[in-house]
Amino acid sequence: MTPTIQKLKGANMDIDLTTPAGTISWQQDACPWNVAENTQEHFCAVKNVSICRYFCGVEYLDSLLCCYPNPNPFKKRAD
Ligand code: SF4
Repeated sequence: MTPTIQKLKGANMDIDLTTPAGTISWQQDACPWNVAENTQEHFCAVKNVSICRYFCGVEYLDSLLCCYPNPNPFKKRAD
């Protein structure tokens, strides 16, 4: 039996890679844009507000796909 995975539009996500080291029990990579600018102001997706221009999606289980500093290859499809 083939499992069925649905692709559902309109998810309202809240995702970031800004948690300070030592405050969570799992490994989290740092946002390369925040690292380059030595800040914590960039968020991947802010619920009800915005999605980062470099956000390319999420891969199971919890990997963030980021194209920083290159143009987003999915941008045309998202427009
Ligand atoms: S999508 Fe990439 S550049 Fe944008 S906030 Fe997330 S990790 Fe940083």
